[in-house]
Amino acid sequence: MPGRHFLHVPGPTNVPDRVLAAMHRPMEDHRSPDFPSLALPLFEQLKKLFKTTTGQAFIFPATGTGSWEAVLTNTLSAGDRVLASRFGQFSHLWIDLARRHGLEVQVIEEAWGTGVSPEHIHDALVSDREHAIRAVLVVQNETATGVSSDVAAIRRAIDAAKHPALLFVDGVSSIGSIDFRMDEWGVDGAITGSQKGLMLPAGLGISCFSQKALEAGQGARRNNPLRRVFFDIEDMQKANKDGYFPYTPSLPLLYGLREALAMLFEEGLENVFARHHYLAGGVRAAVLEGWKLKLCAQAPEWYSDTVSAIMVPEGFNGADVISRAYKRYNLALGAGLSQVAGKLFRIGHLGDLNELMCLAAITGSEMAMRDIGIKVEPGSGAAAAEEFYRGATAEAAKQAA
Ligand code: PLP
Repeated sequence: MPGRHFLHVPGPTNVPDRVLAAMHRPMEDHRSPDFPSLALPLFEQLKKLFKTTTGQAFIFPATGTGSWEAVLTNTLSAGDRVLASRFGQFSHLWIDLARRHGLEVQVIEEAWGTGVSPEHIHDALVSDREHAIRAVLVVQNETATGVSSDVAAIRRAIDAAKHPALLFVDGVSSIGSIDFRMDEWGVDGAITGSQKGLMLPAGLGISCFSQKALEAGQGARRNNPLRRVFFDIEDMQKANKDGYFPYTPSLPLLYGLREALAMLFEEGLENVFARHHYLAGGVRAAVLEGWKLKLCAQAPEWYSDTVSAIMVPEGFNGADVISRAYKRYNLALGAGLSQVAGKLFRIGHLGDLNELMCLAAITGSEMAMRDIGIKVEPGSGAAAAEEFYRGATAEAAKQAA
């Protein structure tokens, strides 16, 4: 089918033309005297993205998975205990990665469709009288179920338990789209990838370490450190301080990152977060009011502003909606993973996005659902979203007046 492809998976997201243009350049010598003028400002700009003045940002040629590994292996010793909540495929995979690195993971199982419970974290930390737990692992936005957790509340729970554990946050599908405050929330290790809120192709594993995490890393180095070579932040620190990398960086991605960050700061991070909230509101209106279907996220407190996971009615397979949307309407939707495979499909609504792009995803999903026999009222999703956007816009105009 001619015409454009509609990419609505929750990452990779659409790359804006400005970023594509910025990446379209001849290769350069990454050891040239000019290179630091590209690299050095990037580290500073990333600190603004993470909202930290004291942390240190790192850019690995990797993905979010590599960032998971970087933050754990640079701060912990083999056999250390960490605490993690599991409520979706990505929180599960981080736990799996930690275990495969020889960490002991104390898992709090939460229902899929809910998120991290600050109370459960608090109780687990209070029970840990010896302070054996070295870090708490939190996925801020569980992309598999469309669930966001409250990182500030988790920090309060750790403080209330008077526990010294480090706080590590996976912000792969939230940072740059949903509010994140490294310093204010006392986050010690924050990670993301390039292909979601940063509107770039995959290929950069970005992380930020607090001073406390860097010091913990020094301690761990003296005491049975976890193995790492490629992800060793000491090698990075040595080269980065002069604006270089210990190995060959991806030049196009670095130029793209510079442009993407410029775009986010031009719009203003708070406006970017508000836009994501507003666009997500329209998608949720389509699902709940238009189609009268359910989200996987069980209550508004868990709703994600970057991805909506939509439960298909009993007797239908979410994979059939996705396949029909892709083959017939040129629309890419996200699949249900693991425990929720077949039970849902996901609309990603993050990155370089506006109302009409969301309406296309809604209408395409609706057509695909109807084609496979799911009974939703024709036009009901778009109508509900349209009403939401018009109402929300009117409200914003009233407030601005
Ligand atoms: N964490 C979350 C929340 C994710 O959504 C993803 C990927 O979608 C990852 C981690 C893994 O990232 P990557 O695929 O970039 O390795």
